[in-house]
Amino acid sequence: MILHIPHSSRAIPDNLRDQIVLSDEDLSTELTLMTDAFTDELFCLPETAIVRFPISRLLVDVERFLDDVEEPMSKVGMGVIYTRTAFGNTLRRPLEAYEIRNLLLEYYELHHRKMLAEVTNELEKHGKALIVDCHSFPSHPLPCDMDQSVPRPDFCIGTDSFHTPKELIQITERTLKGSGYSVGIDWPYSGSLVPMAYYKRDHRVASIMIEVNRRLYMDELTGAKNNRFDVIKGVIQTLLAVIDEFWREN
Ligand SMILES: [Zn+2]
Repeated sequence: MILHIPHSSRAIPDNLRDQIVLSDEDLSTELTLMTDAFTDELFCLPETAIVRFPISRLLVDVERFLDDVEEPMSKVGMGVIYTRTAFGNTLRRPLEAYEIRNLLLEYYELHHRKMLAEVTNELEKHGKALIVDCHSFPSHPLPCDMDQSVPRPDFCIGTDSFHTPKELIQITERTLKGSGYSVGIDWPYSGSLVPMAYYKRDHRVASIMIEVNRRLYMDELTGAKNNRFDVIKGVIQTLLAVIDEFWREN
């Protein structure tokens, strides 16, 4: 099993800060809105590979398709390289072609190469590979979100019609509901990441996305953990252990 953690970082490297036109204060607010805060602490299981993107999604979003034509979020300025904030304001100055190339090479492609290496390694060792795509989401939809319905569930499971086994969806849903949490399937977010080399080609590569509602574990205005943080971390660790066991046995 491989944990993919694409959106946990607030890091904006010094040499890339000037691309973003927001003041430090506005940038901090945007980071609080857009970062899947603490998902690198919430999602962990011993002896499990973790691929975490080291910088903020505001600079490059590794969860997006490279080609804007394939990427629906590019319509709101949130393709692989964001140009707009969550509220639709200007995020960035226009970039030179070499700057875009550098972002894609140094961050996007490097990250996807790491992911591909982990998946290939699992396939060689076990004959199959499972990716758990680990995220969190705001309790109220942001203006950039496609799904604006409320109230939102406690957890969202994202699936892919080719790569997510039905039993895996069922066991994930059952485990979360059994702990008393509401669950949306492909709602309010859908899909789950698979490396392009295997995408819609190889059934040995499975993937499921798990998104936790931020209201459960943090104060969404200040960005601080709330007093339920450790409880939610325990719920997620139990879930990952159940998924891992299911995956080993099936
Ligand atoms: Zn995310």
